[in-house]
Order: sequence, then structure tokens, then C-alpha cells
Amino acid sequence: MKLSVNPAQRYAKMRAHTATHLLHAKLAEIFPNTKQAGSLVESDFLRFDFYADTLLSNTQLKEIENWINQRIYSAFPVTLTQTTFDEAVKLGAKAFFEEKYENEVRLIRVYDNDQCISAELCGGTHVQNTREIWAFTIISQEAVASGIKRISALTGPKVIEKLHNEEAILDAQVQALEVKSYSQLNEKITKFIKEYTETKSKLESIETQMLTQLLKNVEKGKNADFEYIFQLPPETNFKALPNLLKQQFPTVKSLLTYTPEGNYIIHTDGSISAKSLVQKYQLKGWGSDTVAQGKDAAVMNIH
Ligand SMILES: [Zn+2]
Repeated sequence: MKLSVNPAQRYAKMRAHTATHLLHAKLAEIFPNTKQAGSLVESDFLRFDFYADTLLSNTQLKEIENWINQRIYSAFPVTLTQTTFDEAVKLGAKAFFEEKYENEVRLIRVYDNDQCISAELCGGTHVQNTREIWAFTIISQEAVASGIKRISALTGPKVIEKLHNEEAILDAQVQALEVKSYSQLNEKITKFIKEYTETKSKLESIETQMLTQLLKNVEKGKNADFEYIFQLPPETNFKALPNLLKQQFPTVKSLLTYTPEGNYIIHTDGSISAKSLVQKYQLKGWGSDTVAQGKDAAVMNIH
């Protein structure tokens, strides 16, 4: 069976491939000692792995993006030369990998007028002019292994597709936050975050006051292991509880607090291990010598 490649897909791959060469050229300028560690070229998508100790800053990533896009808009020719390996190296080709090259090699070069800005030995197919790449945008940078970084990028129509997807997200935010334009989003979000932080801290302080009152007034049980047993109302904020318990019962040997949902905290002064009490009552949860916490409906059977 003959494998047919859709011409549009093939062209999309060519755009991504030539863009990969441009990316490589620019990275070699930023990291003079870098080497390619691998690459993947798909339809208008590319992934390029290279040796570098540090991740690029956002400014550097933008600089790379701008540099490549300028070369795209400048409509530079991309040439293919069939030559010998030695000749290609003389012509400035980067020889990567510890690869063995055939006697005859394909040299792909990009020219800025008389100046060659990229020269690579490559078996892949390329566009004939950088303007055919149409546009380039970096979508991510990550560290993939020790000393190896990865840049993923888009070319051609996928760049517009990405812009449209991001626009849709922003449009939804404009609607949800009831502003008129993207430029007002930041201000509104900053305002909301400030209000949220203030409200949250107010709420926490009210909660703490309520809990403090509650701990004073709630009916207290006890048994051989626990000096105090409290049942607290549903959905009590357990985050605030450990500190409050410590403040209110500094001298207590052991106490158990739980909600009807089965959330519980065990506090001890260390003379009895909180963790061993969890084990003794076979509760689900974790603990240390002085605190144990978990969620287990069985806690309600402890009297
Ligand atoms: Zn290539």
C-alpha cells in the first residue's frame, strides 16, 4: 500500500521544519555551545530539544519569537545544495549528532541578502522562502532532562488558531467580569483579588471567633483516653482548629474533636501519642506524637 501524504499537511510540515532551522540558528546565537538534542516536526508544530543549563527568560523567548518573525516577513530565500560532507562543513554547515553522513549530503541554507543565517545538513523538505512559514509563536518551554531544555512552537495557520482560542477565553472573561474590553480585565481582576483577600481574612477571623465561643460552650464528653471529646457543627473549618485548640487547652493531656462528617483532630501533650490513639481506635488518618487528623465516620462511636 502506498502511503499518501496530504499536500496541505506536507506543506504545514515544511513550514514547521524551516522554522525549526531558524529557531536552532537563533538558539545557537544565545547559547554558543548548545547542541541539538532532538527535534519533532509535525504539521505547523515543532518541538526542539537543546543542551542548555538555564531556561530562557520570557524576554529571551519574546526576542527569539520576534527574530524569527522578522526573518519570515523579510522573505529570505531557503536554498538546497547537494554537496559533499566536507564541502558542506566548509560552507558553514553545523554538523550535529555524532551521526555518520553519506558522502553526498543535503545542505539547507537561509540567506539574509549575502549573509547565511542558517546552514544545516538535513534530509527533510523545506519551504523555498521564509515568508511561506507565515508566522511563528512559542507555546512552551520546559526542562526535559538534566541539561536539556525543550521549546515547542507553532507556525502558519496554527498561530491564528491559537490567537482565536485565546480570544475566546478572554471574551468569556470579559463577559463574566462585566467589562467592556480586554484592556479593562487586569484592573477588574486586581480589584476582585483584593476584595476576595479582604473578605476571606474577615471571614476567617469571624470563624475563629465563632469557634472559640463554640469550644467554650459545647458539651464535652470524655473517656479513658480523651480528657475532652467535642462534637462540632457540620463543616467546621478544621484548618483553624489546631491552633485554636492549642491556645484554649494548653495543659490538656488529650482531646478529640470531630464533626458529623467524620472529620476529626486529636490533640495530645505528647504524654500519649496522638498517632497511637488513631491506631487504637482504628481510624483512617495520619498523625504525629501530638496531633492526628483524618476523616472516618467511625470516630462518632468513640465515647
Ligand atoms: Zn532539518
